[in-house]
Amino acid sequence: MLLTNARIAGTAGLLDLAITDGRIAAITPAAGRPGRDLGGALLLPGLVDGHVHLDKTLWGLPWRPNSGAATVRERVENERIHRAALPPVSVRGANLLRQMIACGTTALRTHTDIDDAHGLANFHATMELVARFRGQADIQVVAFPQSGIVTRPGVADLLAQALREGADLVGGLDPTSFDGDARAHLDIVFGLAQRFDRGIDIHLHDRDPGGNAQLRDIAARTIAIGMQHRVTVSHAFSLGTTDADDFAATADALAAAGVHILTSSPSAGPVPPVHALRARGVVIHAGSDNVRDLWSPFGNGDMLERALLIALRQGFRSDADIAVALALCSDATALGLPAHRLAVGAAADIVAVDAETQSEAVATRPARKLVMKAGVVLAEEGRYCGSA
Ligand SMILES: [Zn+2]
Repeated sequence: MLLTNARIAGTAGLLDLAITDGRIAAITPAAGRPGRDLGGALLLPGLVDGHVHLDKTLWGLPWRPNSGAATVRERVENERIHRAALPPVSVRGANLLRQMIACGTTALRTHTDIDDAHGLANFHATMELVARFRGQADIQVVAFPQSGIVTRPGVADLLAQALREGADLVGGLDPTSFDGDARAHLDIVFGLAQRFDRGIDIHLHDRDPGGNAQLRDIAARTIAIGMQHRVTVSHAFSLGTTDADDFAATADALAAAGVHILTSSPSAGPVPPVHALRARGVVIHAGSDNVRDLWSPFGNGDMLERALLIALRQGFRSDADIAVALALCSDATALGLPAHRLAVGAAADIVAVDAETQSEAVATRPARKLVMKAGVVLAEEGRYCGSA
């Protein structure tokens, strides 16, 4: 396949891209050859959603009022009450995956609920989605103890079973403020990761300095079992609240341990400071988190929109800053995957948009003209056209 008359940020003029065996085989100046004419569209590498909950979404269903629970604990309980009446994960999760692919996401990490009430049901449904969408998106599955581990007897064994059955990572949730015993919680999470040789991705919502103490504990544990760059902490709000010395000590510990930070750039409350973390060598990347579910009515799985939300929360205006926001939304290496690059030899995971620059793409978020995964066209003009 030949994509013609495309543009790549940082490269002058119109370009043709030859795609062979799912990879970019050549990038040459446009030469008027027959091919798929992109009419001067800007190319972006395949977008990456580092944190989503496919099993929670209500995407594609009639609009549902949100009761607006205030705390994590209330939202967990609300979900435990109402989720049984929802259509199956196979329907809702597939709806959201098609939407995410139509928006240009070609790799993602989903946290799937495992708890004492419904066991591995959502996990099994999510693994079926992984198989169904194989080749259309690289999907990592986190075995996520949404209702706790220490306080929910049996959940540790369920997490182990999920890892035995192929979960890519083991999750965790607010070891102190939700599960009440950070040492016991982290002993189980790190023990499972070591036993099954899988990565870790922990939800940490705590905002007080105690959150940073937990981050330093997680960093120390990561080094102790040699899991550098295989551990992520999602949200890590405490990094956005504490004094300069505490922040510096915590960021340095995270950098030394290769513990990655994931932000969804929520609309209120503290968020990890992107530039300050990167300056100290911490990997920070981005994800949607909740997309139209029992937790939140918002979100649409569009990582260009997530880049906009990051830019707004971080006070980014310049092209250079917005490029950083976009880079957080296409960072496959943060998930341990090969880098998404528009370069000869790279996988042909390509998103085309009608925009002059990356900043315009983030600011205007046009419908994706073309989305390609490993050389296969999966969306055109904002519409999913794959086979799942
Ligand atoms: Zn989450």
